[in-house]
Amino acid sequence: MIKEILKNIATKRVTIPFPEGFAVSPEKSAKIVSLGQKVDKIFGRSLRIRQVDAGSCNACEWECTALINPIYDIQRFGIDFVASPRHADVLLVTGPVSRQMELALKKTYLATPEPRLVIACGDCAFDGGAYKGSYAVTNGVAEVIPVDCYIPGCPPTPMMIIQGLSEFMEQLTGIGKLRGSIAAFKKNPL
Ligand code: SF4
Repeated sequence: MIKEILKNIATKRVTIPFPEGFAVSPEKSAKIVSLGQKVDKIFGRSLRIRQVDAGSCNACEWECTALINPIYDIQRFGIDFVASPRHADVLLVTGPVSRQMELALKKTYLATPEPRLVIACGDCAFDGGAYKGSYAVTNGVAEVIPVDCYIPGCPPTPMMIIQGLSEFMEQLTGIGKLRGSIAAFKKNPL
């Protein structure tokens, strides 16, 4: 162990290399770097997300969980997950919304402070995805609560979620940074 530590100090190696295939174009990279500035401008330095599993297969949750690992480190943008909708700026909903989760999702939405922004994350959240047409699901978040943004993918990768958040922020920035303006945005979602 001591040998390994000394070797790492000597080689100045502090972390593993970024995995292959995860690279983003310089253009997208620049957009993502500006995500923190957008969060700063619109939400006063911190964007708090309440993630709601509305009957997903859990793969979408794994990707969301990866957002806070050292590779994606979404907290560097001032974004973090919270345990209560009462502390959240945005609900990020995954899954097709099973009938069992329908009422819980409505209650969670109502417990979220205005302007109650909602992101539907993953193909299931969009229209039921792999479960579409099943008697046990509602075929997407929009059938239960209003949706402001969709992030596609089955599941969306952490980078796709970051890009989705970035583009969502861009839309909000374009309209204005005041919460009243965000409410106006809800009438014309992405
Ligand atoms: S979108 Fe795909 S990964 Fe996400 S909950 Fe549905 S089936 Fe699972």
